[in-house]
Amino acid sequence: MTNLNLTQQEKEKLSSGHPLFWLNPAYQNAHAAPDTPDVAGIYEAEARLARFAPLLIDLFPELKDTGGLIESPLLPTDALNKEINPIGGRLFLKADHALPVAGSIKARGGIHEVLCFAEQLALKEGLIAGPDDDYRKLGSDESRTLFAQHTIAVGSTGNLGLSIGIMGAALGFNAVVHMSSDAKEWKKERLRKRGVKVVEHTADYGAAVAAGRAESDADPHSYFVDDENSPRLFMGYAVAALRLKTQLDAAGIEVSPEQPLIVYLPAGVGGAPGGITFGLKALFGDNVHCFFAEPVQAPCMLLGMAGEAGQEPVPIYELGLQIDTDADGLAVGTASQWVCDAVRHQVSGVYTATDDELYQHLFSLKNLENVEVEPSAAISCCGPAMLNTGPGRQYLEAQNIANSLKNGVHVAWLTGGSFVPDKEYQRYLEKAIKISN
Ligand SMILES: *Cc1c(COP(=O)(O)O)cnc(C)c1O
Repeated sequence: MTNLNLTQQEKEKLSSGHPLFWLNPAYQNAHAAPDTPDVAGIYEAEARLARFAPLLIDLFPELKDTGGLIESPLLPTDALNKEINPIGGRLFLKADHALPVAGSIKARGGIHEVLCFAEQLALKEGLIAGPDDDYRKLGSDESRTLFAQHTIAVGSTGNLGLSIGIMGAALGFNAVVHMSSDAKEWKKERLRKRGVKVVEHTADYGAAVAAGRAESDADPHSYFVDDENSPRLFMGYAVAALRLKTQLDAAGIEVSPEQPLIVYLPAGVGGAPGGITFGLKALFGDNVHCFFAEPVQAPCMLLGMAGEAGQEPVPIYELGLQIDTDADGLAVGTASQWVCDAVRHQVSGVYTATDDELYQHLFSLKNLENVEVEPSAAISCCGPAMLNTGPGRQYLEAQNIANSLKNGVHVAWLTGGSFVPDKEYQRYLEKAIKISN
């Protein structure tokens, strides 16, 4: 096996499916990241989303109130904070489970990448004259006729497929989504209803991506959204940091050494949490602390970050794990090497949690805050308690923030759920109640 920054005991915990809190030894070590992406990319993505906003209102009337921006609220908590946060400070929920259009965190990155491709084509074909033109022209029959000659393809465990498929189809593209075996039936149904072609695979996410990539590469009119290697997705996700800063400002919260920001991000292949971390680090530097969260059965980012810069991430199968989890949004066997290298010195650590823990938090979110999420999202709520463990305390001391925790601002990033059909959610909730009692 490749060199891993893990002790024998940590490896054994991972292999046996026990929760682990791993601190990243490369944190704050700029040498650990060979080529960090350019921060300017975040602002370019933000500007692109703003250019498209008027068109998005035409395509999705639910975006009228936000002026065409796809954004979610930052929700304060009280009861939940008391229940799940033993270390002090306030707890907020970043409600991306309720992001309009796609219903998950994939809305930002996925939609941004589709818009990048549409813009590139439109400029090349002269449908728009430049970035100052009226982008509503891209909803015209002429534009749709052009877009219909092109395919946008993606491989997904479900939510990225929804994001790419919904946006691609809305613009008139021929959209093809390759779904892994973990993908839920309702997600496939929802896409088919929108005219998206769904290709079902009996293997894992990595295999669905590989098959999608191969099919798309064979067709010169097909564009592949490569979740394992995509700066466009990454920068779209990173825009969330700018939006979060606006929301913190509005709440009168200034992030500082006396008031640290601690963020818990569910991680699959790494793009969404990586992009957000990259954005938050650009804004808040050492005063923001980003922890990734993964199911005990799919700790692919942990293995990727514990590996070495410029090396392929170790697949979870090498530890004898099988991605056996209900957190379908996090059901990934191998992390994105590109993302691991991009944020290798920015991620504070990675923790893992059992499905039972996810369900307990899914229940608490519903019971205490009336928030309905899918299991993947609930893993973010394990974060504050992890900081109260040995490695957590060690981190807080090392970063000199143990004493400012009473002013700390914790953000649990809720990544998906509002599109889950009620019947499906009730099933989650029943399981959650059984486990919690
Ligand atoms: C995709 C997804 C994530 C993680 O994003 P990655 O880019 O795969 O790391 C987290 N939660 C949900 C619900 C998701 O769909």
